[in-house]
Amino acid sequence: MCYCPNNAPFNECCEPFITGSKQPTTAEQLMRSRYSAYCVKNAEYIRATYVQSEQHNHSVEDILAFADLAQFIKLEIIDTGDTPDGSYVEFKASYIADNKVCLLHEKSLFVKESDRWKYANGTIYSTPEVKVGRNDECPCGSGKKYKKCHSH
Ligand SMILES: [Zn+2]
Ligand SMILES: [Zn+2]
Repeated sequence: MCYCPNNAPFNECCEPFITGSKQPTTAEQLMRSRYSAYCVKNAEYIRATYVQSEQHNHSVEDILAFADLAQFIKLEIIDTGDTPDGSYVEFKASYIADNKVCLLHEKSLFVKESDRWKYANGTIYSTPEVKVGRNDECPCGSGKKYKKCHSH
């Protein structure tokens, strides 16, 4: 199953977008592939899928540092739709960082540049962070203790 998550395997879902052998046809596909790119730590893809005007604000090093810190465990798509400015995807992405479970709840705007979907910007909703104890069940749902699973 793909990271994004989908019932298709990674190599038939998000990987072709990340390697560039296929282009996402919807904003949601691009959003999912950017999430999967964080999971496989492909910072170049994440940078390249920002709109041109934003790329200088996001270095590959910064993206990689965040991808190394945050272990993404879950993605939920809440809503998608079109506006005159582009297409939006509202999602909740859960990740573990510094022994806390964090929830990124964002409404992202995607636009087409040179006929390719790009991430323009996002509105982030504030969400609480929850501490995870070493002996707690891992928040990823594996059923293992955190210290034996996503702790590092
Ligand atoms: Zn996928
Ligand atoms: Zn885990």
